[in-house]
Amino acid sequence: MVKKRKISIVGLARSGIAAAELALSDGFEVFLSDSAENSQTVEACRKLSAKGASYELGGHTDRVLDADIIVVSPGVPLDIPIIEKARRAGIPVISEIEFAYRHSQGKIIAVTGSNGKSTTATLIARIFSDAGFHTILAGNIGMPYSAVVTRTTPETITVLELSSFQLEALETFRPDVAVLLNLSPDHLDRYPTAEDYYEAKFRIFDRQREGDYAVLFADQPEVESLAGKINSQVLWFSAVGERTPGALVREGKVFRNQEPIIPAEKIGIPGPHNLANALAATAATIPFDIPADSLAASLSHFSGIEHRLERFHEENGILFVNDSKSTNPESLKYALLSFDRPIVLIAGGYDKGADFSELKPIVAKRVRAAVFTGATGQKMAEQLCGGVLWCSVVPDFDEAVKKAIALATPGDVVLLSPGCASFDRFKNFEERGRHFKKIVLKILADRKNEGV
Ligand code: ADP
Repeated sequence: MVKKRKISIVGLARSGIAAAELALSDGFEVFLSDSAENSQTVEACRKLSAKGASYELGGHTDRVLDADIIVVSPGVPLDIPIIEKARRAGIPVISEIEFAYRHSQGKIIAVTGSNGKSTTATLIARIFSDAGFHTILAGNIGMPYSAVVTRTTPETITVLELSSFQLEALETFRPDVAVLLNLSPDHLDRYPTAEDYYEAKFRIFDRQREGDYAVLFADQPEVESLAGKINSQVLWFSAVGERTPGALVREGKVFRNQEPIIPAEKIGIPGPHNLANALAATAATIPFDIPADSLAASLSHFSGIEHRLERFHEENGILFVNDSKSTNPESLKYALLSFDRPIVLIAGGYDKGADFSELKPIVAKRVRAAVFTGATGQKMAEQLCGGVLWCSVVPDFDEAVKKAIALATPGDVVLLSPGCASFDRFKNFEERGRHFKKIVLKILADRKNEGV
């Protein structure tokens, strides 16, 4: 009898659970290990042990090392003692993405970058499915790659959104098209310097070869200087220049190489950052057979995803926008550039060590009133208040929203674009965005009842 291969899975959030399911269906002997013992991990182990997995919770013991291979979930840092021990013992340590990849068929378009990953990955998936391809969207978007990879066929296009954590512990992962949207010094709490972070992002190209494609942002000098290291064919995208092969804007029109596609103003997602995202998506279609009219229709119909500059309500001439996914200064900046009406801004949240002072001129120009909240509220106010007519620090999130609504007048946009992660108060940005939408509607209804 063939001996069963043994696999240990470290980290039992969504991706780890999906990897465990995949390993079980693949005939592995599965061992699960998570440092946390809470209702979520207990429930996951209960379900997976019913299918034959064994497990430990509340810490990682040497049982993890009794394996032919170890799969690490994206949330688990690779320098924890058990992983270092595994490496010293010569046990292969791979990421959940690498594990899923070994089961994949068809072509892969991988999307990474500091900002715009979900929007662009979703748009690319829409373009391909509108054009009739069997398309799967997975990765950081909220659907683990391991959960869907068994549905791939040789004809499938898998669009993968990858965070920089998901670019670690890869061994053979080689996307047919790899898109690097942009680089901004985010996640500095996990990387020693901005250069380390950039290099982590460039790992998406590491195993690409001739015949593969790299989609790069021509408008960013940091990207340009790293482009020489790439082995695949570069496809550029630019909102200001004309670099080919790639996607560009000429006289207000989007071009795919020399082929006109659509007037830029017809693109369904708003703002200059989204133009860049749409251009990246356009460049990613170059290696495939996607007719211009089909591409144009997808670009104009796609209006974005929840929590990204989501215009969810308008009342008394005031527009309400939920941009809860804005978790770093760069995305806050682009949110501010996306409206040509006065902004009442609600910003602040968990402190990742970011510096906001560069945004001061834009805030002074675009923001009529600002309410800074959460753990970073005070710091943001100190860095950004100069030049804003009304500026205040209101630590409590609900009170901050109330204050912003009180400050808004017809013609304004009330914009939640925190520029920070949500963990100081919420489970994740989705919960923050949903909560925001709910309380805005409630506060407006209460005000109506009170006759305000
Ligand atoms: P990600 O998945 O990389 O976090 P999203 O598409 O979810 O990106 O968008 C996150 C936030 O970043 C939103 O607030 C959005 O308005 C902003 N954003 C989107 N695209 C870009 C871009 N190309 N450059 C800067 N900010 C962007």
